[in-house]
Amino acid sequence: MLASGSKGNSTVVTGGKTRILVDAGLSCRELFRRMKIAGEDPAALNAIIVTHEHQDHIGGLAVTARKLGIPVYFTEATHRAWMRWITPRRQMTYAQWLEQCKREAAARQAEAAANQEDTAEICECDDETDEVTAAPAISAAAETVEPEAALPKAAEPKQDPSWLPAVEYFQAGKSFKIGDIAVSPFTIPHDAADPVGFVFQAEGVRMAFATDLGYIPPNVKAQLKGVDLLLLESNHDLEMLRDGPYPWQVKQRVLSRVGHLSNDAASEFLACSYDGQATYVILGHLSESNNLPELARVAAERALSNHASLLANRLMLAAQHEPLSPVQF
Ligand SMILES: [Zn+2]
Ligand SMILES: [Zn+2]
Repeated sequence: MLASGSKGNSTVVTGGKTRILVDAGLSCRELFRRMKIAGEDPAALNAIIVTHEHQDHIGGLAVTARKLGIPVYFTEATHRAWMRWITPRRQMTYAQWLEQCKREAAARQAEAAANQEDTAEICECDDETDEVTAAPAISAAAETVEPEAALPKAAEPKQDPSWLPAVEYFQAGKSFKIGDIAVSPFTIPHDAADPVGFVFQAEGVRMAFATDLGYIPPNVKAQLKGVDLLLLESNHDLEMLRDGPYPWQVKQRVLSRVGHLSNDAASEFLACSYDGQATYVILGHLSESNNLPELARVAAERALSNHASLLANRLMLAAQHEPLSPVQF
């Protein structure tokens, strides 16, 4: 795991001869730097696969994919959402549209007034009246022209920012293969276009990735059974989030059914619904503002104490600013 948290997420999954990057939420340069620290060669990557279009998962996607010349796997809805994100906005907001209407109306009025005066005082057309009538018309026209003049630039960028070497679509619920790795994407409840978690399987080892989810619905619980490695979100401590620095609306979003899993929610799953079979349990997407690694760890340790096994449930915490030491089977 090269990075995990709201400032960037990215993980290398390898199996057989295949290496894939799951999400690219750091700059290409930083991804490559961390891969080298983790003993991975960026040039050996075969593909990038994307969970959802939030910036902390796709921030370095285009540059990385282009640099390596490798395909990107998305759901179609996520690809579209990503293209909207990366392509400069050409659409107006309602407020901008209203503003433009007002300007156009003012311009028309000024023009009409100018015409009226032109016809009424056609013989007395001196500099002064010209100035008074013409000035608003010109400035209004200049204003209305400006956004239109900007359009061709945005519509025909020299280089299409959404260009990728190759795009492959997958659907949640339909398994497929990338080289030697079998991928089973599943829908997760999160406020993105079509967010997914993954179960990766290679050489008899199953790994489940479930971060960025507001709660754990039955379909996700089913996917997290019988895995050898479980990456589970443990985003925030409820009290720290409540008392923390986020604006009220953001707190509501994080807490919602399409937000992020709290330490409590992760622990409840680990204590009550998890089968206790994974060799490694990795807590991920910890908030730097609303969580402490120790709080997440203690909550998970307590929950896992139900599952008495010497070999299983080795607990690790993925970090935001440095790669986790590689986990091997
Ligand atoms: Zn995220
Ligand atoms: Zn997200």
